[in-house]
Amino acid sequence: MSQNSSDKIPVGILGATGMVGQQYISLLNDHPWFEVRFAAASPRSAGKKYKDAVAGRWQLTKTYAPHVADIMVEDANDVNRAIDAFKKGGCSFVFSALEMSKDETKALEEQYAAAGIPVISNASAHRWTDDVPVLIAEVNPEHTDIIPLQKKERGWDRGFIAVKPNCSIQSYMKPIHALVKAGYPAQRLIVHTMQAVSGAGYPGVPSLDMIDNIVPYIGGEEEKSEKEPLKIFGSINGNVFKNAELPIISAHCNRVPVIDGHTACVSLEFAGKKPSSMEEIKKIWADYKGLPQEADFPFAPKQPIIYREEDNRPQPRKDRDADKAMAVVIGRLRQCNVFDIRFVALSHNTVRGAAGGGILNAELLKHKGYL
Ligand code: NAP
Repeated sequence: MSQNSSDKIPVGILGATGMVGQQYISLLNDHPWFEVRFAAASPRSAGKKYKDAVAGRWQLTKTYAPHVADIMVEDANDVNRAIDAFKKGGCSFVFSALEMSKDETKALEEQYAAAGIPVISNASAHRWTDDVPVLIAEVNPEHTDIIPLQKKERGWDRGFIAVKPNCSIQSYMKPIHALVKAGYPAQRLIVHTMQAVSGAGYPGVPSLDMIDNIVPYIGGEEEKSEKEPLKIFGSINGNVFKNAELPIISAHCNRVPVIDGHTACVSLEFAGKKPSSMEEIKKIWADYKGLPQEADFPFAPKQPIIYREEDNRPQPRKDRDADKAMAVVIGRLRQCNVFDIRFVALSHNTVRGAAGGGILNAELLKHKGYL
């Protein structure tokens, strides 16, 4: 389903100048379906060409496309004017990568949706809104079924809101889902994350707090890590989501001096039947595929879970870019002396955990006819 440049769907980005916004711009450079034609950010960037708004703070090695350099950045809060520019660009939907207060983000995303613009968000503001799906394209693509109900309930014609979960849970949700699908649901998890500094946005954590150091606290992260999986493993009940009851999760989230790539050390107890061996679990992970792989979405990793046999893998620097930085890399699967098994999982937080995951969700929503 590849399209030439002129056939591409024009899209916009709210928060286009930040860490995640820059990833969207960079990852969409060569996307076969979507092309960036609209950018909005804070009043600090508004009224500048994109290249001037990010001058001196572009964080990626890959640069932006020439046509993006000259896009005039809008103030995302000046909704009428921004929507006018969005429509002049012929855009179809927006990715939201705003970093504002929860209430401000919520209100702003709703204003865009009410104006007929589908919003595919990275922000946490709407993750607990009970008619908004929290999507990991391989894990719960059926949760998009709530969108017609969301639109009807809110009186929105074309617009809707769909979000992706927190970056810290990305590395272990797919391996756990693979085990659930194989008939081995988890009862309890203890997770220790080691999260990269890019997860805090730009400029992020002060260097004096981060160099030669570990910070054992990331505001709100443990609560998100414990709750969001239950919505993702939940189901649609009427026109809202009903959370799953399992697994019970205890999370310890730490900020570590790594630029990109969140690592999680996971101990897992099964709810009932247990796999017969570690080899069986590795095979379940190796065989794991979801709709993105079956339908061959452009951003889908071919192998969503990659297992590394070396004792000292995964490592952020060596493994975060696996399969377009969209794969989860796992290693060190072994017996747990307290629960049943333990392993180490890694995913790229600003790609799989943010912009790449958002793009995969957009591909899913297009595949399902919502875009
Ligand atoms: P960031 O680097 O701080 O970028 C924030 C963006 O929001 C910038 O474009 C900024 O515009 C804009 N913004 C800030 N205040 C605004 C305001 N008052 N009005 C309109 N726009 C405003 O943050 P980030 O790391 O990219 O994160 C963006 C979102 O993604 C957040 O909700 C975050 O929780 C989520 N997320 C981040 C990651 C990650 O790994 N970084 C992963 C998953 C989810 P200016 O440049 O003009 O200030």
